[in-house]
Amino acid sequence: MAADQQDAVAAPGASTEVVPIRTGAEYIESLRGRNLDVYLFGERIDEPVDHPIVRPSINAVAQTYDLAVRNPELATALSPLTGERVNRFLHVATSAEDLVRQNKMQRRLGQLTGTCFQRCVGMDATNALHSVTFEIDAEHGGEYHDRFKAFVVQIQRHGYVIGGAMTDVKGDRSKAPHAQEDPDLFVHIVRRTAEGVYISGAKAHQTGCINAHWLLVMPTMRLGPDDRDYAVVGAIPVDAEGITYIYGRQSCDLRSMEAGGIDAGNATYSGQEAMIVFDNVFIPNELVFMDGEFEFAAMLVERFTCYHRRSYVCKSGVGDVLIGAAATIADYNGVEKASHIRDKLVEMTHLNETIYSTGIASSYQAQKMQSGVYMNDDMIANVCKHHVTKMPYEIGRLAQDLAGGLMVTLPSQQELDHPKIGKIIRKYLKGRKEIATEDRMRILRLIENMTLGRNAVGYLTESMHGAGSPQAQRVQIARQMQTEFKKKLARTLAGIAPDSAEEISVELSEYMGRVFQAGEPDDKP
Ligand SMILES: Cc1cc2nc3c(=O)[nH]c(=O)nc-3n(C[C@H](O)[C@H](O)[C@H](O)COP(=O)(O)OP(=O)(O)OC[C@H]3O[C@@H](n4cnc5c(N)ncnc54)[C@H](O)[C@@H]3O)c2cc1C
Ligand code: SF4
Repeated sequence: MAADQQDAVAAPGASTEVVPIRTGAEYIESLRGRNLDVYLFGERIDEPVDHPIVRPSINAVAQTYDLAVRNPELATALSPLTGERVNRFLHVATSAEDLVRQNKMQRRLGQLTGTCFQRCVGMDATNALHSVTFEIDAEHGGEYHDRFKAFVVQIQRHGYVIGGAMTDVKGDRSKAPHAQEDPDLFVHIVRRTAEGVYISGAKAHQTGCINAHWLLVMPTMRLGPDDRDYAVVGAIPVDAEGITYIYGRQSCDLRSMEAGGIDAGNATYSGQEAMIVFDNVFIPNELVFMDGEFEFAAMLVERFTCYHRRSYVCKSGVGDVLIGAAATIADYNGVEKASHIRDKLVEMTHLNETIYSTGIASSYQAQKMQSGVYMNDDMIANVCKHHVTKMPYEIGRLAQDLAGGLMVTLPSQQELDHPKIGKIIRKYLKGRKEIATEDRMRILRLIENMTLGRNAVGYLTESMHGAGSPQAQRVQIARQMQTEFKKKLARTLAGIAPDSAEEISVELSEYMGRVFQAGEPDDKP
């Protein structure tokens, strides 16, 4: 696959007929036989596609293809690069409406899988790199933008999955990349040749990387002149020589290896995270989109996180499932009509819709960048993500309240299936008489899965740290909060500085400029 993919990307104008991956089943087949170096439980996995712990994460990505077949309006877009309809995860946004549809697609996929479907990091990296490569070339006169567009054309033609590899392992957080004891703690260029660059280092927590076809490697933070070798962006096939994947454990993941499936809670779908280790991995020049332009690293990180922090609307779709599970267990327990139960469901919904609202508000308040791509509003994206660091925890707390203690004291499916003990369980763990005990157990296991088990990784801890820990959002909000402008508003109305009234009526810049922008989103200056 790697050689094949390299050729396809190296020859963007090639007229060879390509059959894109369209369905979930075709996608799953496309992952077979890649001979990846993947390690889990101290062993190299022969075929990740068939591993019971890996497979639910592949099923979740497969849904992104099947949704596109079932609902092309929502999950595909007409690509101006190819003139063809492509999966929306591979589309470069050409309007605010495109960004809003990304969010709606994300909510829908969260509803359908109850977990992380893994394709948003690649989508957001693609959109961020469209404008950043353009602006590097505008300053340095290079060809990164054309290379990047040629890469995206080929990815769209094949219908591949892209993983976004940004977060380095980082070592001592108080030190810059070049100042680390071990230079490999941030991914960096170790060798340059006439044909390309070689990189080494490791990326942590990489969502869906083994389920992807390509990786976009990017720097993780602002860089200085001494970090020049760390300023590298490139595209690498997942099966490139020199890459090792070390699979991340998820809470209760062994339940996916048990027969039956009830105890897994959500036996069909899960997320995936792994560490990617690069050992002298080659990137040919045509797939290098930044090499040494350290001053653009911060721009790339900020633009990527701007897109990605409102992609967390995915959590509202997952939240819909959890609210449904909490309402179902209340129903099964016969307490559905109690006023405090209803009130808790209202509170969960209020929190969930707050996440959704800020996400799509950020997308609607978009601006057109110099390269032509649209970017959502950074302030509101950070507000969205900051909500996400808190609200799913509260929704999870309320779901556990409604579930009752049985959620964590249930016996296993083997007891339920046991000829003697099973009868006892069916008698004593019954809720309302019309509801089968097994169904009551299933819904409790789902709540456990989403708040303590495999899918709590995506719904809770990923909500905390993904796209940056909470403090990263507070820094961005602080940068954009325009306190001086707000102080002027207050001083004017309080009669302290009445002469600034005229000034503040025209002084609508930065975030306030975007809030009051009339008509179509303006071109970015
Ligand atoms: C489930 C999951 C999926 C993810 N998927 C991806 C992915 O697909 N691609 C990707 O690139 N990344 C991914 N991430 C990584 C994510 O962006 C990081 O987790 C996040 O940026 C925080 O980095 P960290 O985990 O190394 O935490 P740390 O950096 O160790 O942060 C821990 C705490 O220390 C604080 N801290 C860190 N540095 C400093 C400092 N210099 N000064 C003061 N305080 C500091 C933080 O604010 C935080 O409170 C994922 C993370 C998770 C949990
Ligand atoms: S956590 Fe959400 S935004 Fe991130 S990749 Fe998974 S589904 Fe997409």
